Amino acid sequence: MKELASLEDINVSEENLLEEKFQSKVSRRRFLEAGSAVLVAAAGLQAAEGQEPRAVPRSADHHLPNEEEPGPNNTTLDRQNPNSVWAPETDAGGQQPFKYSFSLAHKRLEQGGWTRQVTVRDLPISKKMAGVEMRLISGGIRELHWHVGAEWALMLYGAARITAVDQEGRSHVSDVKEGDLWIFPGGIPHSIQGLGPDGCRFLLVFDDGNFNEFETFLITDWLAHTPSEVLAKNFGVPESTFAKVPKKELFIFGRELPRPLAEEKRQAEEGTGPVPHAFDFRPSEMQPNKKARGGEVKIIDRKIWPATNIAAAIVTLKPGGLRELHWHPNEDEWQYYVTGKGRMTVFAAGAHARTMDFEEGDVGYIEKSMPHYIENTGDTDLVFIEVFPTPFYEDISLAEWMAHTPFRLTDEHLQVGEDFLAKISKKEAVVTPQ
Ligand code: MN
Ligand code: MN
Repeated sequence: MKELASLEDINVSEENLLEEKFQSKVSRRRFLEAGSAVLVAAAGLQAAEGQEPRAVPRSADHHLPNEEEPGPNNTTLDRQNPNSVWAPETDAGGQQPFKYSFSLAHKRLEQGGWTRQVTVRDLPISKKMAGVEMRLISGGIRELHWHVGAEWALMLYGAARITAVDQEGRSHVSDVKEGDLWIFPGGIPHSIQGLGPDGCRFLLVFDDGNFNEFETFLITDWLAHTPSEVLAKNFGVPESTFAKVPKKELFIFGRELPRPLAEEKRQAEEGTGPVPHAFDFRPSEMQPNKKARGGEVKIIDRKIWPATNIAAAIVTLKPGGLRELHWHPNEDEWQYYVTGKGRMTVFAAGAHARTMDFEEGDVGYIEKSMPHYIENTGDTDLVFIEVFPTPFYEDISLAEWMAHTPFRLTDEHLQVGEDFLAKISKKEAVVTPQ
């Protein structure tokens, strides 16, 4: 029986081998027939008799045999990621993903709102920064707390009251609205409360990829884990003062709306005054640093906002607009897409390049000095933010580099003509078309 079985196996294998040979001949013929015309036309290659084609056949509508996609396809995700399904020919694999969506993040729901986060645990490339989205209902409070890393925020919707106290006991209390920013440097205790009529939603960015919003230093959690006789001694009051301190963290909870801003500010500043540099910033009150037909850019760093140790750019690209080819020599870049659709290619040296698509709620990440561009691929404005874990914004663009290198030298590399090189703007474009 055993011998018979193995004989059968051999016969079957031989049959399979023959079948495979036949199939590969047929498919190779189909492949060459379908591909050769496209190849010759598109790449200008000579498909000489008896020679293997030197490039992979491709078609604009992806109809070629080697482009077929039989079997399961997630068409919803495919539609959102056309540059992953059909990568530009200039892409080359082997590069880790640099995109994650808040839509995939776990949402922690509380009575006063919700929160979710995208950290290095979700997006392994994002080692130096992490992001949090939060919604607070009208009156909803993000509990008094602090953390090791700095917190940079963009208000996405509604209005909120923020509070903080610095190392000198100086206070910051202010109301922020959609489009405003705040910074809480590392270790600075703070709170956020949703205002009327419908609370708020905001984005937080931390200069620590391993940040965890669910494990911050909370005032309730700390007091619940300190002996009440020590609390009593600390303040010189009876232990009973602390009888109602919650035994468990509040984290995000609903309360009445705060009192008038002037009243709360006066109370908090008594004896020490306000912080010397405001922790909030209003980009709506500044002019764009660059304005072009393709869009505009506002750069917000310590040059104009002395309190911040996190630099950022707010970029708006018109349909077809391009955030020009560039890189950042000083730090990694963390991105958040506020509205619209775009694509980004990151070139990672060693012939590696990858293009990914982005839309509302997506996070992008680019490591220090890796060149990239962002293109609006939709028919509405694309708005995204670039955030850097450093006080000052820095970039170098391809055009800027070429404009300030001897034209002869660049032309000897690229053969683009010295006339073209001489005409490149001497000032960085940032956004094109100009
Ligand atoms: Mn915080
Ligand atoms: Mn960039």
